[in-house]
Amino acid sequence: MKRDLLCMTAPVREGFDIPCHEIGPRLSLPGAALVGGLHGDEINGIFILSRLADFLNSVEAGKYPELRLVKRVLIIPAVNVLGVNLRTRTWPFDKTDINRMFPGSTNGETTQRIAYAVLEATKRAAYRIDIHTASTDFEEIPQVRLHGPSEAERVTARKFGLPAIMERSLSPVFTTTMMASWKVWHGQSFVLRVGQAGTVQLDHCQRVFRSLVSFLGKVGILEGVEIALEDEEICYFDKASAFRVYAEKAGTFVSDRQVGRWVRAGQELGYIYDSLSGNVIEKVVAPVAGLLTGIRRHPLLFEGDLILRVNKKI
Ligand SMILES: [Zn+2]
Repeated sequence: MKRDLLCMTAPVREGFDIPCHEIGPRLSLPGAALVGGLHGDEINGIFILSRLADFLNSVEAGKYPELRLVKRVLIIPAVNVLGVNLRTRTWPFDKTDINRMFPGSTNGETTQRIAYAVLEATKRAAYRIDIHTASTDFEEIPQVRLHGPSEAERVTARKFGLPAIMERSLSPVFTTTMMASWKVWHGQSFVLRVGQAGTVQLDHCQRVFRSLVSFLGKVGILEGVEIALEDEEICYFDKASAFRVYAEKAGTFVSDRQVGRWVRAGQELGYIYDSLSGNVIEKVVAPVAGLLTGIRRHPLLFEGDLILRVNKKI
């Protein structure tokens, strides 16, 4: 069933609402809550979750007789609906970041009311998943991000079967994120970071779609899923495992490398060219042996810009 999480009116246009899919048995608390598009330009997550909603609705409609939803799943594909329309990360009217508005309130500004409604709908779920991307300039390997996790969350994170799990401490600064608000509640919370903003990267999206279906199977929400044996190892990375390369000179950075590949120390990963003369200014190499987990995709570099990140196996 699709309902509107929150309906809002606007001064000089028609009202708008934030769609929310509630799929599966209605009596229980949600087994899983999945949220995308807190940032309006992060289209990979919006695409993945809208496809997942379509798939689970088909399961409910009996199109996959071998599959059965035994717990309710709640999916909000795009929280920042207006930002999606205008291709902006923030809420278009006042440029606020919705992921800095939690826990929100019922009588605050629009983005505070949105944050409140999203938190109310999702906070009681056993598993809560928030999907993001990197910026429009940078591509990240599809990964699970843990923020100050419990031991149970560390174990569950492996069930996504994604190639990298990145653990960070819970930020003492960003206390107004949805993740920080979720943490107060029972249940487990995860961020998935998938690719780059501003585009749909089909390979990443298909991979994460399959990983979510498999996850729902492994945690007992979707029965009948054939769980494929992982053919790739899952790596666990802490903050100290990350080695970054920054631009020493401005120019045009070009690379044909893909995220998710293992690289050798000193391996060539791309070049910085003089933007107008075309001369090679600098060869960009891997700082250590490890997994290429992120790389710059916007070619124009200023000195000091982040070019890539390699994570060393711990
Ligand atoms: Zn985001």
